[in-house]
Amino acid sequence: MAPFIKTYLLAPGPTPVPESVLTAMNQPIPHHRTAAFETVMAEVRQGLKKVFGTEQEVLLLAASGTGGMEAAISNLFSPGDEVLTLAAGKFGERWTKLAQAYGLKPTEIRAASPGDTIPVAAVEAALAKNKNLRGVLFQASETSTGVSLPTQAICAAAKKAGVLTICDAITACGVFELPMDRWGIDVLITGSQKAFMIPPGLAMLALSPAAWARTEEARLPRFYFDLKREKAAIVKNQTAWTPAISLILGLREALQMMLKEGLPQAYARHEILGRATRAACAALGLKPLAPAAPSPAVTAVWLPAAVKDGKTFVKRLRDHYGVILVGGQDELDGKILRLSHFGYCGAFDITTGISALELALTEAGHPFELGAGVTAALRIFAEKST
Ligand SMILES: *Cc1c(COP(=O)(O)O)cnc(C)c1O
Repeated sequence: MAPFIKTYLLAPGPTPVPESVLTAMNQPIPHHRTAAFETVMAEVRQGLKKVFGTEQEVLLLAASGTGGMEAAISNLFSPGDEVLTLAAGKFGERWTKLAQAYGLKPTEIRAASPGDTIPVAAVEAALAKNKNLRGVLFQASETSTGVSLPTQAICAAAKKAGVLTICDAITACGVFELPMDRWGIDVLITGSQKAFMIPPGLAMLALSPAAWARTEEARLPRFYFDLKREKAAIVKNQTAWTPAISLILGLREALQMMLKEGLPQAYARHEILGRATRAACAALGLKPLAPAAPSPAVTAVWLPAAVKDGKTFVKRLRDHYGVILVGGQDELDGKILRLSHFGYCGAFDITTGISALELALTEAGHPFELGAGVTAALRIFAEKST
């Protein structure tokens, strides 16, 4: 009998949900049109503004993160509008597809190869070339390849050109510093099942004054995701439609945890966990996809030659060792492994994940000294243990 009886979730979403959040959600459903629920909403509103770094209202939609992306498109644009999409991976491509689905005219800038970032110079060149652009749509952290995009510089360049920035921050908001107002991000979007440590089902987004002004002239049809309607509701601590009540109860608890740790402290933790993960992978001889601009949320590495079938390898990690890591999507399927290091994640989640990875790599015949990855991670934690 193999001793691997426990399951560990180390995927970049859904991420593990803390016990206190589970407990907060595990109660009879309160009705949402009540003073008691409005008290919860008031607290959540204040907490979200802090995490987003904005004075604007943060809207809550009952949808996965993609619903937040769709809402940004349908509320800000008109048919035929030209937009710039930055595709550093699968989620960037989603912006292009969404724009196409709504009859916009996207120009896509693609990363040179998987794991590469999009340099701000490419964005500046595209903005200079096409004066009709009405939005730049991008990811702060591209989860499919574990790369960061230069958000602050992109926003500065777009602002100069008078173009709105729409930032998918689904594995960025709450993971690393991304102050919406200070950096001039016009729309910041995130989802519940990533850094917010609650189950999937809530999209959260905020709009700058310029983005709100744009909603007045934008002519794409919208109904469920009518952000103006949501704004009118949330200032009264309500939502336009029935909210995801249980998730909002969980969100209140999760926000308390995030703010109790402190945002700078959480960002520093994610940074150290990412550094330890990268050091461990390097010690195992695994090449990173994104060496130049690694995301503090997730590390992607190429699987070594000894691993003949990457999909089976990920399954083996999950079904035999009980460690849920994820592989790649589309053309990266079977070729890469992604290790998450944000949200409800600490040093020993990293060493556990690396331990399982070492056992599975040994089984596959990849040569390295057993314990080398864990040792490399522990060395980083030893430096930071005070
Ligand atoms: C998870 C994620 C999304 C949203 O995906 P959903 O499945 O709709 O929640 C979007 N963008 C990025 C970068 C993500 O990591």
